Amino acid sequence: MGDTIFGKIVRREIPADIVYENDDVLAFRDLNPQAPVHVLFVPKRAIATLNDATPADAELIGKLVLAAADYAKREGFDKEGYRTVINCNEHGGQTVFHLHVHLLAGRRMHWPPG
Ligand code: ADP
Repeated sequence: MGDTIFGKIVRREIPADIVYENDDVLAFRDLNPQAPVHVLFVPKRAIATLNDATPADAELIGKLVLAAADYAKREGFDKEGYRTVINCNEHGGQTVFHLHVHLLAGRRMHWPPG
């Protein structure tokens, strides 16, 4: 568990541009940003995909989403708005199997997404 690139970032084994942290969640800038602001929120205790989440993870996932909202408010993205995304498995476009929330901000988002 946690042995992905994001697990290594959580354990400070590889560098990342960390922008937010609390007891349960770490957030860092995406290496390949898709918007002027693109930050990834990861739970420190790894869950591989949303499919693997159980009711025992409800509090942690709540904290994960609230961390993204807290960061957005702190940075002032809340008024104009932003997008949060959780990709799951192949058709969702997930490539790193440590559940994470993408926070995209700084431009108008398109819908439907690609
Ligand atoms: P996708 O790669 O299709 O966006 P995910 O939802 O699994 O799939 O998102 C993984 C994200 O992690 C990608 O946006 C990718 O740019 C980013 N990423 C991969 N490695 C790193 C890293 N070392 N530091 C920061 N971001 C990373």
